[in-house]
Amino acid sequence: MTVNLSDVLSSNITKHEEISFGEPVFTDGILKYDVVSEEACDLEITGVETGKVHLTGNGTITLKMQCGRCLTDVDTKVPYSIDRFVYGPDLVTEEIAEEQPFVDGYVLDTISLITDEILLAMPMKVLCRDDCKGICKVCGKNLNLTDCGHDQFVPDPRMAAIKDIFDQNSKA
Ligand SMILES: [Zn+2]
Ligand SMILES: [Zn+2]
Repeated sequence: MTVNLSDVLSSNITKHEEISFGEPVFTDGILKYDVVSEEACDLEITGVETGKVHLTGNGTITLKMQCGRCLTDVDTKVPYSIDRFVYGPDLVTEEIAEEQPFVDGYVLDTISLITDEILLAMPMKVLCRDDCKGICKVCGKNLNLTDCGHDQFVPDPRMAAIKDIFDQNSKA
């Protein structure tokens, strides 16, 4: 969806547009996430001065992400908050253009804007629950679902080598 900004770029009026991501799959450029649900964003578009516009609004998208420990799917709410200034052709510079790839001349690409906001708002790490036990380092089973009985302490081989050196020194 696109919104023409000509009117707000030339006067200090305010207008509203209901915008949403609207696609079934979101990608961060590396991974793909199914979109579970979405609450649309009421975008407020205000002309600040000639050539400069303030965008504000809040929306929420729920993405199917993976638990960082056990890799099960977790429906993850990603609320995003839009609060930024964009510039029309009168004021745009090369530097500004790089920061607002979702504005082309007088036209705002809302999907591109929301994509940018979701990328900023996405959690770095998702857990299915705070005390997720993860997967067994020996057999790969989900330890939340089963207790396979394997010892989960696997010493780091590099640490083991250092420990050997310490042991030798202490003997000398
Ligand atoms: Zn988990
Ligand atoms: Zn196991």
